[in-house]
Amino acid sequence: MKYVILVGDGMADYPIEDLGNKTPLQVANKPNMDELAKKGCSGLLKTIPKGMNPGSDVANLSIFGYNPKKYYTGRGPLEAASLGIKLKNDEVAFRCNFVTVNNNVMVDFSADHITTEESKELINVLNNKIKSGKFYVGVSYRNIFIYPDGKINKLKTTPPHDIVGERIDKYLPKGENSKKIVEIMEKSREILNNHPINKQREKNGKKPANMIWLWGQGKRPKMIPFEKRFNIKGATIAAVDLIKGIGSYLGLKNIEVPGATGYIDTNYKAKGKYAIKALNNYDFVYIHVEAPDEAGHAGDVEEKIKAIENIDSKILGQIIDNVNMEELTIAVLPDHFTPVSVKTHTSEPVPYVLYSPRLKPDDVYSYDEFSAKNGSLGIDKGYNLIKKMMG
Ligand SMILES: [Zn+2]
Repeated sequence: MKYVILVGDGMADYPIEDLGNKTPLQVANKPNMDELAKKGCSGLLKTIPKGMNPGSDVANLSIFGYNPKKYYTGRGPLEAASLGIKLKNDEVAFRCNFVTVNNNVMVDFSADHITTEESKELINVLNNKIKSGKFYVGVSYRNIFIYPDGKINKLKTTPPHDIVGERIDKYLPKGENSKKIVEIMEKSREILNNHPINKQREKNGKKPANMIWLWGQGKRPKMIPFEKRFNIKGATIAAVDLIKGIGSYLGLKNIEVPGATGYIDTNYKAKGKYAIKALNNYDFVYIHVEAPDEAGHAGDVEEKIKAIENIDSKILGQIIDNVNMEELTIAVLPDHFTPVSVKTHTSEPVPYVLYSPRLKPDDVYSYDEFSAKNGSLGIDKGYNLIKKMMG
């Protein structure tokens, strides 16, 4: 048996007036997801344990089969792992966003989706001028900062995508060691403000990356490898560092796909093709697509529907057409809701569909937030999905 989990990040949504009070999943043309619902079973998964933030880190850790309450130490260390950074015991990894701040208001948590090339140059400058830690280049606006002194247990930080349009003052890091971290963030403004790259960006009508925002900090997590736990060899197909990072702590191989950007123009067809190829060598493939989440954060309904349709036709459709369904167990789900009306993640249980030749189909015929409630799988904890898939 082969196992596939296909995650459309932030795909789930609320009913939208302009869509006749339907959700993007209900409106999207997604024959393959609906076919899986028909032939498989549906249900709801609690990917965000009570009291935890609805981040992609927590949610995806759940879907991988690891209880976040037990294994989660922060997003930073997971992303650092994907860059090959081995954290020492005392080191703390932060997610380091390039952001756009004007008049102390968070204008863009992604600095207008700054390119990795531009990020690379700005990270070099930061490393030359700030010596209290080390910066590493990630993808686009998503970079990493390693702070050597681990005394940050009570440090409180805020994800920048949660405060778009708000004054940053009250969201700067607070608590233990926060003064030093705030100093680094303030210093970045001096360094970045007049940098030629930002001057050029503004000339081109792009927002400047005029500040770094540090958040998601944590120390190295201790995880049992996936293969040891579930007795199968697995791989990930993902463009974003977070998923690669979780995968690398779990001992999963990340398969690089040309053209996978982690943004709405991600190369869906290639992802599907590489997933099918990966199934020759691995029993388990975890495919993650960031695009619907980005559309959700942007409040863009059209893009969200398009992303869902692309996942359905170019990834799921390709898999269904090319893999023997008698030997495939596959689940499709979002990690969390990213409603376009809220523009950020929310915590409700996510709809999922699970197909396996072993499972007797239930009476649900389409895949969406409301249909899934009537499925035979009921409501369960996110980290039980893998166990369910394996029977
Ligand atoms: Zn997510």
